[in-house]
Amino acid sequence: MTTEIYLDGNATTAVLPAAIAAAADAMGQRYGNPSSSHGTGLKAKAVLDQARACALRLLGVGDGRLMFNSGATEGIQTAVLSALAALRERRERGEAIGSLLVYGATEHKAVPESLAHWNRLLGLNLTLHKLPVDHDGAHDLAQLRALAPQAALVCTMAANNETGIITDLAAISALLTDTGSAAYWLVDCVQALGKLDLNLAATRIDYAPFSGHKLYAPKGVGMLYVRAGAPFTPLIMGGGQEGGQRSGTENMAGIAALGAVLAALEQGGTFRSHHELASFRARLADSLRAALPGVVFNHPFDKSLPTTLNFSVPGLTSRELMDVFDAAHVRVSSGSACSAAKAAPSYVLDAMQAPLWRSAGAIRMSFGPLADEATIADACRRIERCGAALRASCLIPSERTAVPHDGLLQLGVEGACSWMVLDAASRSCIVIDPLPDMTGRIESYVRCQNYQVQAIVSTLPGADRAQLAAALGRHFDIHAATDDYGWPASADDGIRIGAQTLASVADGAARHYLLGAVGLAPQSMRFAFCAQPALDVLRPLTCAQTLLCPTRDEHNQFCLGMAEPAAASAQAELPLQLDSAALDAFLQAHPDARLIDVREPYEFAAAIAPGPAGRSARSVPLSRLAEHASGWLQDASVPLVFFCRSGNRSLKAAQCLRRLGHRQAYSLGGGLALAPMALAA
Ligand code: PLP
Repeated sequence: MTTEIYLDGNATTAVLPAAIAAAADAMGQRYGNPSSSHGTGLKAKAVLDQARACALRLLGVGDGRLMFNSGATEGIQTAVLSALAALRERRERGEAIGSLLVYGATEHKAVPESLAHWNRLLGLNLTLHKLPVDHDGAHDLAQLRALAPQAALVCTMAANNETGIITDLAAISALLTDTGSAAYWLVDCVQALGKLDLNLAATRIDYAPFSGHKLYAPKGVGMLYVRAGAPFTPLIMGGGQEGGQRSGTENMAGIAALGAVLAALEQGGTFRSHHELASFRARLADSLRAALPGVVFNHPFDKSLPTTLNFSVPGLTSRELMDVFDAAHVRVSSGSACSAAKAAPSYVLDAMQAPLWRSAGAIRMSFGPLADEATIADACRRIERCGAALRASCLIPSERTAVPHDGLLQLGVEGACSWMVLDAASRSCIVIDPLPDMTGRIESYVRCQNYQVQAIVSTLPGADRAQLAAALGRHFDIHAATDDYGWPASADDGIRIGAQTLASVADGAARHYLLGAVGLAPQSMRFAFCAQPALDVLRPLTCAQTLLCPTRDEHNQFCLGMAEPAAASAQAELPLQLDSAALDAFLQAHPDARLIDVREPYEFAAAIAPGPAGRSARSVPLSRLAEHASGWLQDASVPLVFFCRSGNRSLKAAQCLRRLGHRQAYSLGGGLALAPMALAA
């Protein structure tokens, strides 16, 4: 039984069973070299010829060339090299050539990178010109018309990989003809294969690269079409395979598999129709609208492939969305290259002038034409589950007040962090060092749990607290008198929060805050919040168990101990990482060990499996690590096994606990992704 719902078809697809069988046959039975003239070679050659004949018919290659290669990146190189080498020769012969290499602003990076590379290497020094697109991702045809007479090469993809937006190739063809342009025309057809009708020789397209792995063939195989009469230069020279167009012994397993996919496309009956695929997309879109209020789709459905959805959700980063979907075993991709906390915006959505929140928060859901009814229905159920998990965690608005949280919460962005001290019983909280980037998050957290914010304090003077204060509305008394650090004038003896008190300690221009039992005896002090750990000032006021919570946390340390760093650091004797294969044995040898899921609560809530190896686990996200660390340290002989999706976050948690003196803190190496899973009931 598979638990995975794979909705990342524009990145790559699974391999069609018939293609796996064809590849296995090519490796097992027909393993000959198709260039050999003996019987074994001839059997392999028959496979090659059959795959090629099918591709020629299916793509309408006519008198043009079609060669098998390693994929679209190679096809793009060959096309660009061929066009630019011809342009150079023509210029050397004294012919006039265009001065511009025009490419659509939303092309796959392989296109502009190859243009720049070969332009430089061949010493052509033509000008690369990025052709803008409009809000719907359509090329600026008026600009292209104006540029066409000076264009030497025009590159416009057939369909975009991030948004699925389909290019109006007929309009481009017409304008190139109308303007009498002599430009060569490269059309990246990677995302179009199997989804759009292609009859290449009937068009004026000069070069069309294809990639097998985007349509149920394996990675490492592709094709390049070159129009009859268009310039051609081999990229790879050698034994003269592929009619001298692409040397190197053929990737026969890949070609046989691609041949099987092309045969299935030609015969029909295997892949879904446009209409069926569009109805699948509509169902997914409806589920997303219901689960994620305010979701915005970043492309017009009627102008894009029926297999792609690209969307953003106000208030949610692409990292958070990716994580929640991944926890529910729904594989999607972020429309942008996202790093740790902040995602880099998508250049495709930027080119479409989408606002930053949409281009940095985009998620792509894409499926292939083999998608089936049951998978789409299951995907819709899981989208619902993800929405419920995000609502329960206050990440998206909900009608119901969420279960209130107690204790400490750390909210970090790029090395800085805010802390919240929360008391569920009185529904009150205190915010320490609010980061402007966290305003929305703190506000929704406070509103959704209906807390009253007693104070917003900072560790350094002049910090910006006004933005949060204004955003909190009735949840904060903006008129209460405070000093420069936000400390209430009426709180000389500290701020009571439930059974604890927060005290303020002046230290030159800085302030530290101490949280402990009412009375503030050093031995009751649990946490000290400070911009920089100031041990000499804090030591007399705290005890060995007090945890230091810095409001700068560049190294993801979460919290530190009061002990000298040297004393606390000698905890490296035991390995820090547990191999997932060794987890069972470890848990049997340590029946008291605690399994701790450090993913965020929305990931925990969306998860469809209880924990590694089918065991249940406790949820303690990294943002709550400090709160729980003090409890775990009281009994440091109980092993702690932290885990997360990939092993990164759990490693940080285990390192933190080891630093604090817990010798039996471990991280599950490779995370849940590599651990054997069992489904929840
Ligand atoms: N062009 C487009 C539109 C793509 O989506 C991709 C794959 O991501 C490529 C080119 C590169 O293809 P390949 O992986 O076969 O090199």
